[in-house]
Amino acid sequence: MALTGEGADIYRSLGVRPIITASGSTTARGGSKLRPEVKAAMNATAGVMVDMAELNRRAGEVLARHTGAEAGFVSSGSAGGLILQSAAVVARGDPALLARLPDTTGMRNEIIIHKAHRFPYDQCLRATGARFVEIGDGRRCRPWELEAAFSERTAAVAYLFSPFTTRNALPLEHVVEVAHRHDVPVIVNAASYLPPRANLRRFVAAGADMVIFSGGKSVRGPQGTGILVGRRDLIDAAFAAASPHQTFGRGLKVAKEEIVGLVKALEIFVAEDEAAETARYRRMCEHARDALADFDALTPTVVHDQRDYMIPHLLLHFPERWNGPSRDAVFEALAKGDPPVFLHDIGPPNELAVDPFNLDDEELEIVIRRLREVLSKG
Ligand SMILES: *Cc1c(COP(=O)(O)O)cnc(C)c1O
Repeated sequence: MALTGEGADIYRSLGVRPIITASGSTTARGGSKLRPEVKAAMNATAGVMVDMAELNRRAGEVLARHTGAEAGFVSSGSAGGLILQSAAVVARGDPALLARLPDTTGMRNEIIIHKAHRFPYDQCLRATGARFVEIGDGRRCRPWELEAAFSERTAAVAYLFSPFTTRNALPLEHVVEVAHRHDVPVIVNAASYLPPRANLRRFVAAGADMVIFSGGKSVRGPQGTGILVGRRDLIDAAFAAASPHQTFGRGLKVAKEEIVGLVKALEIFVAEDEAAETARYRRMCEHARDALADFDALTPTVVHDQRDYMIPHLLLHFPERWNGPSRDAVFEALAKGDPPVFLHDIGPPNELAVDPFNLDDEELEIVIRRLREVLSKG
């Protein structure tokens, strides 16, 4: 179990308590547990010197092969990938333009985005100095609104796939068709939209010009990595903006052993039996559901819809008539307990979930025990 052993001891020696992350691949709770093969590859390569441009190119070829894209680049997370997407479409690899960012005066610096796709990380797209041209309202967008948003300053259309985000945007295929008619690239953020593994190819196949996935979430790569793939000229333009170059994106550096770790993680991820993996997560959730069956007022239910709950989760619903501790009190009590347990709380405000992604069987038992203790109070 991850709560004991050498790794846990190192964290404890720093005064840091190991936690149980039942919230999925949440960045603030550690991202994901790396597979032994990934840790071994990172350990083996960390002390070997290589030319970073060559490593970036070869690693990019592996990302491209597994996504059906022309080219790829290991970015510093999805957030770093979004900054590079924006730098690529605004400066197009021109060193003189790159050197001026975030001053985009005179450049193509408008990114069209659905209001329904505004999200906290979209600031990364604006970090280059690009500005948004919003289309639609929170509820819907009509085709003429997209059509009317283009100008001679349009750099790209941004598109988001994310759990718990409104789906009322125009379909990606439609956006691609219109944008390409205007000779404008479509940049997709699918950071946490895996599994299904089929999504690795889905957005490129739909015509997206650049797509970003997080490496440190479901792929179980190093926490700071991202998978940026797309059209060769745009990936080249992204690379021109990134480390090791002494320019705009130098702060988005990815270490050599992280690049190797991501490549290894992706290769294992794509080769993995998704049906068997899903069945294992489902069994864990069903076990937790049965262990909490006497709290039937919370209707413990196993959910898996590949939209909001990308893998099976155990969902607890806190109804009005529930007279035990509130949903927020339960979350707090587990987070402040020993060991700290973090539940999945990004769904509707009256729900909590157990995400099995970062749990082994022993950790799941602790989650169940802590939930039973806290739910029984009151
Ligand atoms: C997680 C996430 C990000 C940030 O990804 P990092 O890999 O942590 O940088 C950006 N956008 C969305 C939609 C995400 O889910």
